[in-house]
Amino acid sequence: MEKLIIIGSGPAGLTAAIYAARGGLNPLVVSGREAGGQLMLTTDVDDYPGFEEGIQGPDLMVKMRKQAERFATRFINEDVVSVDFSRRPFVVKTESLILNSNSLILSTGASAMWLGLASEQRLIGKGVSSCAVCDGFFFKDKNVIVVGGGDSAMREAAYLSKLCKKVTVVHRRDKLRAQVALQELVKSKKNVDFIWNSVIEEILGQEKVSGVKLKNTQTGEISQMQIDGVFIAIGHKPNTDFLKGQLDLDEKGYVVVENETHTKIPGVFVAGDMADYHYRQAVTAAGMGCKSAMDVEEYLENQKFGV
Ligand code: NAP
Repeated sequence: MEKLIIIGSGPAGLTAAIYAARGGLNPLVVSGREAGGQLMLTTDVDDYPGFEEGIQGPDLMVKMRKQAERFATRFINEDVVSVDFSRRPFVVKTESLILNSNSLILSTGASAMWLGLASEQRLIGKGVSSCAVCDGFFFKDKNVIVVGGGDSAMREAAYLSKLCKKVTVVHRRDKLRAQVALQELVKSKKNVDFIWNSVIEEILGQEKVSGVKLKNTQTGEISQMQIDGVFIAIGHKPNTDFLKGQLDLDEKGYVVVENETHTKIPGVFVAGDMADYHYRQAVTAAGMGCKSAMDVEEYLENQKFGV
């Protein structure tokens, strides 16, 4: 029987673990097969406070995990298969274990979204990717497209510009939504250009990507472009499918929180990107992780004294 199980090990889950461990809750983290979350797929993190020279995303996550381990947090490196909130204690099934806990913090984050084209799905891993850090190396000195106009797209474009011959950002409008600093960074790169008001209709190629069919969103005009790789950076989807039917999710799948980190089920708390469409920063996820651990402490204390 656990006092607290934390599901997920990005900045939210690991910060929750640090606080809960220091608060004497002896937390167990089910870290997931993609342990560390989205920061494991990032390079330079320049906006996490405390690192004046910046830090690599994976290094930050290793530091957070070591900090949690320093206070005797335990980890299970498996995915959660299901959770049952209808029973007390709560039941968490992982790939090989059945666990029981008096409280839960859910922090499973979010994953990259795809365009949804058949040609895109067929060519994933064959020139189509959602992660420049993971796959950029395969496109050294080649020509690639980045789809999207947000921070993710700018990060991908900036990273790829260091490896590729040319990077073309394809955006469906004529205005980027990315933060200005990132826009300026990308616009300063000589080998990056932009195709505005355009979407990908089809990704061409049989065994690997050879080009794209583009549609102008203003004129409807269709054009073709030769390209070696396509990086999709159009936002993220919360990893909440395993919660359907048990917790309230909004129309995009984000967990609806009642008060800070509380869900509608007493004893079940959330932190990080799975409950935050708006901010989605490492530091805000960490902040919510801290709050969730403090909320759990209060909840368990109240339970003990029947408050
Ligand atoms: P986002 O801000 O939602 O941007 C998604 C972009 O993709 C938008 O430009 C959107 O176009 C476009 N898009 C969406 N669906 C599309 C489709 N089906 N076809 C073509 N284009 C499509 O997502 P994000 O860039 O992943 O950022 C999400 C959050 O994470 C933000 O809060 C961001 O600040 C944060 N983030 C921060 C950093 C950082 O370095 N600080 C890095 C990555 C992410 P429209 O503009 O027309 O809607």
